[in-house]
Amino acid sequence: MNDMSAPKIPFNKPVLAGRELDYIKEAIDSGQLAGDGPFTERCEQALLQRIGGASAHLTHSCTAGLEMAAILCGLGPGDEVILPSYTFVSTANAVVLRGATPVFVDIEPETLNIDPVQVRAAVTDRTRAIFPVHYAGVVADMDPICAIAAGHGLMVVEDAAQALGATRNGRAAGSFGDMAAFSFHETKNIISGEGGALIVNRSGLSLRAEIIREKGTNRAQFFRGMTDKYSWVDMGSSFLPGELVAAFLFGQLEKLDTLNNERIAVWNRYHAAFEPLERTAGVRRPVIPAECEHNAHMYYLLMPDLDARTAFISSMKAAGITTPFHYVPLHSSPFGRTCSRVHGDMSVTDELSDRLVRLPLYPGVGQNLDRIIETALRSAGHG
Ligand SMILES: *Cc1c(COP(=O)(O)O)cnc(C)c1O
Repeated sequence: MNDMSAPKIPFNKPVLAGRELDYIKEAIDSGQLAGDGPFTERCEQALLQRIGGASAHLTHSCTAGLEMAAILCGLGPGDEVILPSYTFVSTANAVVLRGATPVFVDIEPETLNIDPVQVRAAVTDRTRAIFPVHYAGVVADMDPICAIAAGHGLMVVEDAAQALGATRNGRAAGSFGDMAAFSFHETKNIISGEGGALIVNRSGLSLRAEIIREKGTNRAQFFRGMTDKYSWVDMGSSFLPGELVAAFLFGQLEKLDTLNNERIAVWNRYHAAFEPLERTAGVRRPVIPAECEHNAHMYYLLMPDLDARTAFISSMKAAGITTPFHYVPLHSSPFGRTCSRVHGDMSVTDELSDRLVRLPLYPGVGQNLDRIIETALRSAGHG
């Protein structure tokens, strides 16, 4: 079969889920388009209801949330933060921007999440924090990580960019650490183009989070009538989104379960369809630990090796289907090599990052699913 004439299938496609446009109009009609208006408040309340936490702070990206968290951890030169190398650059940039040093450790082969055994081994007297990532919306093994942190007086910041709606042992992603950052980038489960949030679970940090987010001012307290002056009281930046973004996001947040359930249905179909590849093509499918309820952020396959992945991607591309890979491990990236160090063996990271390929996954991809699956089975050399 030749799919050249068939329409291209993108890797991701943003969708309107509900009342986004109504809410944008409402925001415009209200005359308040700067940040921290009614829609920001509604989004923050919705997130707190879902995740729990002492406070929620809407940001313009998960990157911004991680940068706020790094400031709130009090990181500075000489300090070390333990994190996976197999992650997006923002997890590490937040550390580097404070002048601190990322210490990369290996991941677990089953989940591609940070390995708590490696975390424990990497702790030094300079370690200040651990930044685990919930890869593909599967919550990392947080109990041992939080126990290590408690034993050494370290902060834990969850990079929960991909994990909204996911749980581990019934506990929400974002509820384990001192803080957690979420993303609403257009490639995530719930979107606002660019967008994010910082959840603060340790109540003693909430007030400072509010100040850092508002350019280091006590503006929020001033508007609550808690102080009679609006002044510069700390370091900070502009980390807040405008109300148009918050209005769009609130429309999406209302549909979180619907959107996640649609993704889960697609994920389950992929998972069942690709089962034969494990027996015939040396391909490995994602492994979800029994205690995890994932949010189907991503469906990936682990091809036998780099050559097999390259062949798979070009075969899919010839059929008009985009299947990207990621990440170049940060410890071997051009900048990562200059500003970080590695603790221990990185063989799982090095091997799996060469083998992983992602399949299209977005609400509405369902109508193309047969074609994607059929092409993928053929491209992986099955049958
Ligand atoms: C998407 C992503 C980010 C960055 O999110 P932005 O909202 O684009 O800043 C950070 N970490 C991980 C693991 C991500 O997947």
